[in-house]
Amino acid sequence: MSRAVTVGSVPIGGGAPVAVQSMTNLDIRDAAATVEQVCRLQAAGCEIVRVAVPSAAAARALAAVKAEVSVPLVADIHYDHRLALLALEAGADKLRLNPGNIKDPHKIEQVAAAAGERGVPIRVGVNAGSVDSRFTSGGKITAAGLVEAALWQVEILERTGFADIVVSIKAHEIPLTVEANRLLSRRVDYPLHLGITESGPGLSGVVSSAVGLGILLSEGIGDTIRVSLPGDPVAEVEAAWDILRSLQLRQRGITYVVCPTCGRTGVDIAGIAERVRRELHDVTEPLRVAIMGCPVNGLGEAQRADFAILGGRGKGTLYANGQVVQPQVPGSQLARALVDLIRTRIAADAPGKAQAEKEMPKGFHCSANQGGVHA
Ligand code: SF4
Repeated sequence: MSRAVTVGSVPIGGGAPVAVQSMTNLDIRDAAATVEQVCRLQAAGCEIVRVAVPSAAAARALAAVKAEVSVPLVADIHYDHRLALLALEAGADKLRLNPGNIKDPHKIEQVAAAAGERGVPIRVGVNAGSVDSRFTSGGKITAAGLVEAALWQVEILERTGFADIVVSIKAHEIPLTVEANRLLSRRVDYPLHLGITESGPGLSGVVSSAVGLGILLSEGIGDTIRVSLPGDPVAEVEAAWDILRSLQLRQRGITYVVCPTCGRTGVDIAGIAERVRRELHDVTEPLRVAIMGCPVNGLGEAQRADFAILGGRGKGTLYANGQVVQPQVPGSQLARALVDLIRTRIAADAPGKAQAEKEMPKGFHCSANQGGVHA
């Protein structure tokens, strides 16, 4: 088991649940827009948010963002160790240093001393795209070289007595990332942050991340994850939760069991599933919802789901907790009926929560408890 490190209020390693991370993609100097994006990430289930700090002005803006959010913020630092010092002053909960572009041991030691005074962890973040040439084999990037690149900076930190360390090794290539992290996990007991970097757009990026992270997580390697995708980072968080749910490592929100449709299908399963998913995207309760086209596999799935539609010719039956609650619902009304059923049951189970949500003031400030996350 990896040792425990705490980022703000979030424990990673030491047997804690695998934490979900993402990264904002706005210029942090627009603090209001960044706060709004951080809040959306947190609402989607992101537990640690990284922000780019490429300048002194960005470090100053970090303080403004930090004042408005409750989720821990990681300052992503490259090239200039002074930005790490400024980010610490601004209240960063964790630093990410890249050993490929901050190479002077004395500067790394300065950062370690300042972080140590504040109890702020440092992630040594190696990326195949910026690995120092000292750790390549004639320009060729290898798993062993990536590990040595990480250990080089880890050892500098350790020499100062600093041990609040997280390590990551990311590459676009899955076999390279998997091998490097397997090697790394045998060499250190620090928590590991996992990601497949520059994994690609949309579905291909999600598939790459799911395969790479899935292999490692299923071997017990990895304490935090980020799915790296271009575009709105909320998609990264949704994908990360899908990965963790698929591996049954964590539960948050709805797990959908949806039949792939075939010649027996008599209602618009794809349309119903899409509408239900869209309308219930904010649900954080860990539920299993089955949307099935016919009794072949549908009966069994309906009976072991929390809520289900069992489709027939142009109509379907609604189930709750394995029991029929509404038979013969016309196909065009199935999605609405299922959403209403689930909303009603959730409200009945947690009336206090529903009332609190109604009364929550609108605004950018998002430090209210987001809740609903289950290990
Ligand atoms: S559940 Fe029925 S309709 Fe859906 S794929 Fe299976 S056999 Fe076809």
